[in-house]
Amino acid sequence: MLKQVLLLSLIISIPLVTLVLAAVYHFSPAYLNNSFVGGFPALLTAFSSLCAIYCVCLIVLAFFINDKNKTLHARHDALAQSHEDVARENKTLSSKVDLLSATREISLIITHEVDFQKILGKSLEIIAQMINSSFEGKVSDDKEEITIFLKDEVSGRLTPQAQRKGTAIVFEDELPAQSVDWRNVNESLEHSRLFFSADGEMLDFTIPLMADRDTVGVLKAKVPASAVASSEDYIKHLQDNLMELARVLALAVKTPMLYNRAITDGLTGLYTKRHLFTELPVYMEISRRHDSKLSFVMFDIDHFKKVNDTYGHLTGDVVLKGVSETLKQTLRATSTAYRYGGEEIAIILPLSSKEDARVFAERLRKKIESQNFVSDAGQKLKVTISLGVAEYSSAMTDFKELISQADTALYRAKQGGRNQSVVI
Ligand code: GH3
Ligand code: MG
Ligand code: MG
Repeated sequence: MLKQVLLLSLIISIPLVTLVLAAVYHFSPAYLNNSFVGGFPALLTAFSSLCAIYCVCLIVLAFFINDKNKTLHARHDALAQSHEDVARENKTLSSKVDLLSATREISLIITHEVDFQKILGKSLEIIAQMINSSFEGKVSDDKEEITIFLKDEVSGRLTPQAQRKGTAIVFEDELPAQSVDWRNVNESLEHSRLFFSADGEMLDFTIPLMADRDTVGVLKAKVPASAVASSEDYIKHLQDNLMELARVLALAVKTPMLYNRAITDGLTGLYTKRHLFTELPVYMEISRRHDSKLSFVMFDIDHFKKVNDTYGHLTGDVVLKGVSETLKQTLRATSTAYRYGGEEIAIILPLSSKEDARVFAERLRKKIESQNFVSDAGQKLKVTISLGVAEYSSAMTDFKELISQADTALYRAKQGGRNQSVVI
């Protein structure tokens, strides 16, 4: 401020001094006598005039420069603003690209992966990646927790299927109950809406997994809040992204669910006959190539018509379900069972000779024989089964030959008095 006052005084004083000097010179006796043309006052006046002209030029230049400066400043501000806009736009775009590639990756899993656990595991990885990229690495992985709960189609109840805590992924059977946070989970399923809570330490997003208006499960993502609690923008951004991923995840989950439903019999929970026709040729081809044993068993409930006639169809269904449950418990993990028709059931036993299959058949027969069933009206009843066993031979050219041999053995078991197994 002082500088400006001094400068202004100097600029004003120079023309004033020039005026005074010019006046002195004009009214001096030498000038009046016309005898004094040169001399010191004339020089001083001329110099002072030059200074005045110089100052005026300076003032004009200063105004000009100031004006230019202002324009440049305005341009600079506009550029800085547009730079900020571009940076923001860039960030939004790159986060959209991240989200798009994440949704694309999950969609690809649906088409390339059949193993349900792998689908869940990979989806958890992709969601974690998206969360971390949203926070530009500001979130530490080890506290983060993402859990996928799925709805059981029969009971409608949710079960935690997979969880990513830190960087480890744990599935259903190994997931300890205490590490599952159920807050808002059932509510999210019931109301089909997102729940958000922040307790100072963690941001907690609970999102329904909805595919075609059907809620198939719930996704829960817990993210450490410390780095981001102050940023509402980040939270909103993350919430939008998580909702988008939940939508794709719901489809990824529903597709294998639909497939399983298509190949599973609704009453018994066993595979369908159609699925048997798809799988048996594959098992036979594997046995042929590896020169390994393969056996096939068919069984039928004895006098089942009588069960229906005596106790009613509902009781018949209960018996059929009960027999199937016992069968599932008796099967090895590598063996698979199919509802062939009515109360006729088929079993593929890979890596088993007909002797192994006979042992299995007898064990099952005895279990069913000793099993107690309860009718609709509360009466106790028992059933028996007859079984036919056949072994694959490389001479068989069609899978139906193997089925037909087991069927013949079953027929003989019936002829032989029922409640027995026959090996061909
Ligand atoms: P056999 O010892 O010769 O097998 O006598 P069976 O009475 O069992 O004779 P068959 O196998 O020919 O009859 C099957 C009966 O099973 C006929 C049908 O009413 C009944 N059935 C088939 N599917 C179902 C089902 O899903 N539920 C019930 N309750 N009954 C069924
Ligand atoms: Mg029968
Ligand atoms: Mg039958």
